Amino acid sequence: MQYFLEPEEQLAVDEIEGFASTRLVPLLASHRDNAIPKAMAHDILRQLSAFGIGSGWIPEEHGGAGLSYSISGRLYEALARHCPDVAGMCFVHEGAAAKILRGATPEIRERYLEKLIGGQLIGCSAVTEASGGSNVRAMRTRAEDVGDSYVVTGEKMWISNASIADVTLLTAKTADEGFVMLVVDLNEVKVERREIKKLGLNGWSLGELNFVDVRVPKHHRIGEARAGLRETMRGFERARCFVSTIALGLAGSALDHSIRYAQDREQFGKPLGATQLVQQMLAEMAIELDAARLLVYRALALLDSGVQCNKEAAMAKVFATEAAVRITSKAIQIHGAFGISTEFPVERLFRCARMLTIPDGTTQINQLVIGRELLGLNAF
Ligand SMILES: Cc1cc2nc3c(=O)[nH]c(=O)nc-3n(C[C@H](O)[C@H](O)[C@H](O)COP(=O)(O)OP(=O)(O)OC[C@H]3O[C@@H](n4cnc5c(N)ncnc54)[C@H](O)[C@@H]3O)c2cc1C
Repeated sequence: MQYFLEPEEQLAVDEIEGFASTRLVPLLASHRDNAIPKAMAHDILRQLSAFGIGSGWIPEEHGGAGLSYSISGRLYEALARHCPDVAGMCFVHEGAAAKILRGATPEIRERYLEKLIGGQLIGCSAVTEASGGSNVRAMRTRAEDVGDSYVVTGEKMWISNASIADVTLLTAKTADEGFVMLVVDLNEVKVERREIKKLGLNGWSLGELNFVDVRVPKHHRIGEARAGLRETMRGFERARCFVSTIALGLAGSALDHSIRYAQDREQFGKPLGATQLVQQMLAEMAIELDAARLLVYRALALLDSGVQCNKEAAMAKVFATEAAVRITSKAIQIHGAFGISTEFPVERLFRCARMLTIPDGTTQINQLVIGRELLGLNAF
């Protein structure tokens, strides 16, 4: 596991952080409360591709930046310190490209991969439905086999990038109760979309995709027939690690703001930071953040080594996202009433952190994954 970065790796991390704070933050100032518009999202993805965001998981021979997950995770963490919504948008997009690389036919790869890596197309993955997200097997969206195509009908909800995506990796059920994952070109078929208003991470599009008798050619399938559930579950391992990097970025930012505030603000004739109870809060925040980092970096290293890391990815996701909620909440406490003001950054960090315990397996579902790995018994 790599904890310390080589100088050129640290430089890459510093560069993405500099780009996010000086270029993206001003650009996104008017999109703090609503989804980043599609044209702007394309532009951001095009620019970030050069830093290895959106392109990092794709090997160089396929046109990507060919980064390790460990380094890519550090880049996402640095990006999320300033623009967690952009980091969310990008890792979901990058996940779609990685799934196409792994399982699509050469024709589909040729058609979509380069454009996704370059940001000309935006990707997403559609699994969850309103009737239930945790129980993936219970999904109702149907892919009817009609010879050379599937005909898809169903409603997907809580889909990242829903209102801006050009391509979705859709998981649906077949008549024999198997699952398929299909590459659906959203520019070629009629799919109704609706953006959903939410608590935090508001620049990151989240919404519905509704399919009614949408014909998808069979060569758009990822992997074999009936491999859809396996492909979906494989994606979760990586997604859990990368949601966790966003939690690290947010929490790191909240800690830094709190340290500065505790040094500057005076009460009872001395800086807040010179009081023991404020120091206790800061110490707890720093310990939790470092512990979360170690779990996330370990999971990323395991992803790099290619071994199955269900348990470790779930541990990282549970701890890092729940710790980010506690850390950002303490950041508000340290800022007092200013902490809940929208004129200060920490209330937004708290709202964003609160979002992260839900996607890619809620805290409870990930705890059940860990329990299953420990016991060999399935409790869900
Ligand atoms: C920011 C964000 C981005 C997302 N992006 C995507 C995306 O790109 N694609 C996509 O397909 N989905 C996405 N989702 C949806 C997400 O995966 C689901 O919301 C999640 O799986 C939970 O499903 P649910 O909301 O239906 O909750 P439910 O499954 O209804 O769960 C509700 C509550 O019950 C608990 N619970 C459920 N079952 C059990 C059990 N057996 N034991 C104990 N507790 C249980 C859960 O932990 C939770 O607390 C996203 C969600 C968010 C918030």
